Amino acid sequence: MTTTQQTDQAAAPPTAEGDQLQYDLVVVGAGFAGMYMLHRARTAGFSVHVYEAGSGVGGTWYWNRYPGARCDVESLEYSYSFSKELRDEWEWPERYSGQPDIERYANHVADRFDLRRDIQFETRVTSAVFDEAQHVWAIATSAGDRVRARYLIMATGCLSAVNLPNIPGRDSFVRESYHTGQWPKEPVSFAGKRVAVIGTGSSGVQSVPVIASQAASLTVFQRTPSYSLPSANGPIPVDEVQQFRANFEAIHAANLKMPGGTGSRFTAAVQGSVLQVPIERRSDVFGKAWTAGGFSFMRSFSDIATSHEANGVAAGFVKEKIRELVRDQETAELLCPEIPIGCKRMIIDSGYYETFNMSHVTLCDARIEPIEAITATGVRTVKGDYEFDMIVFATGFDAMVGSLTRIDIQGRAGLQLRDAWEAGPRTYLGLAVTDFPNLFTITGPGSPSVLTNMMVSIEQHVDWITNCLEYVRERGASTIEPTLAAQEAWVDHVNDVATRDIMHTAPSCDSWYLGSNIPGKPRVFMPLPGLPAYIERCNQVAAAGYEGFVLA
Ligand code: NAP
Repeated sequence: MTTTQQTDQAAAPPTAEGDQLQYDLVVVGAGFAGMYMLHRARTAGFSVHVYEAGSGVGGTWYWNRYPGARCDVESLEYSYSFSKELRDEWEWPERYSGQPDIERYANHVADRFDLRRDIQFETRVTSAVFDEAQHVWAIATSAGDRVRARYLIMATGCLSAVNLPNIPGRDSFVRESYHTGQWPKEPVSFAGKRVAVIGTGSSGVQSVPVIASQAASLTVFQRTPSYSLPSANGPIPVDEVQQFRANFEAIHAANLKMPGGTGSRFTAAVQGSVLQVPIERRSDVFGKAWTAGGFSFMRSFSDIATSHEANGVAAGFVKEKIRELVRDQETAELLCPEIPIGCKRMIIDSGYYETFNMSHVTLCDARIEPIEAITATGVRTVKGDYEFDMIVFATGFDAMVGSLTRIDIQGRAGLQLRDAWEAGPRTYLGLAVTDFPNLFTITGPGSPSVLTNMMVSIEQHVDWITNCLEYVRERGASTIEPTLAAQEAWVDHVNDVATRDIMHTAPSCDSWYLGSNIPGKPRVFMPLPGLPAYIERCNQVAAAGYEGFVLA
């Protein structure tokens, strides 16, 4: 592999003796969560040090620099809201931003708020041990640092621990190979090369058209077909930007009332069931939403996510589109998904299906031709050997928990976080974990996180954590930790809400939301659907003196 897999680097834990408390907060990760945490905590008078494994800021948008990487939330909303000056000075060139523009934005924010002086780059936190006598976290890094901090804030991202597939011979390929989530900073050339892409989630679907436009040949290895919607990307009209800025406060407030924290400007085209309108009207509404691009399609009617039958009608429209877009009908059928639409994270693409009309692009479907092994020179399927110059693994992530459990985190009495979460993640509010005092997770499992516009959830969590730390400081306490009862009740609540979410938890759907993309990972729905009720609960907990937490 030319990429470096993120591994458990079990460095020796820091010793308790002799080390001074260096920081109020150590933050792990300098993506959008870590950067805002640094800014807010610093402004509140805490000393903060951030460790970042990459050589620059941006997190997800630093690592996922694969060709075609693009955000599926509209640029105007996929931005920090906390600073009016920042909002007004930054110009997004496109409705859906590409990775280079988002990384540029992250760098702009880092410079504008003078964040870099407290970020240590190219340093991975390898272990964090809670010192029960001193009430501090003792932290060790890949660079040999041994530091002690009162609080440990995990801003490690939900989709950052890469998943390399357990295909026999995976590491035996001797030519170029990359994982989309650890794409190198140096340019990668596809020109004249025979390229394989394994995986057809968002990363695969986004990279396929770009790779196809340059490679000599491209073979796409599909295990499960995904639904993808066209982005209809382009510049944002000037008057739309002006309107957005002028009405920002109202739009933002309305977004906080949306289940995903975004999209209040675009309500359902039809406030009602797809089943209650005549067939011609359905096609008309779906067609307009398809052309409008992005998530508009999922908002065409209000019951696509709540009724199996309505969901099936919407899915049927997309399959018809695939059959229209892809000329070879055998390939088109293979690209048609069988799962409910939206049960896996929806994909927004730029010309994915059309790419299969190019004569040098081939679809290799695992239902007909499963991969048997990776060889030194290519991929072996049940039908024979394919030779490649490059393999691109677009095989996703150990989502939501991997970036936490791959670090050696020890709470009370040496309890390892990965052991505490063996049967699935257990948190209070997706923010804190019993037996791990003074540890906070930004957009952790058990919070809406990946079901929302991450920028909104990140800001809500960072604001809540900062207020909480100020509260603890005012009371002169040195630890805060959720009670077991509060955590158990929260886990029950998350499970209960998830069970009622028929779309995301459909038994036929193996998604990373459920952990079922990782062999052996417990099948547990990890995020909590419904941002508005969640925000209300977080606010209630704070207003009631951090109900469910113990301060000591
Ligand atoms: P993903 O959605 O988990 O897709 C991984 C793909 O790899 C799937 O097609 C999966 O097949 C396949 N795969 C995994 N293991 C395999 C194996 N052993 N053999 C063959 N195929 C295998 O990962 P992703 O595409 O990186 O996307 C993850 C998430 O990141 C997205 O859902 C999205 O939330 C986020 N993301 C967002 C954007 C954006 O904003 N536009 C872009 C990229 C990513 P199965 O389906 O059969 O498991």
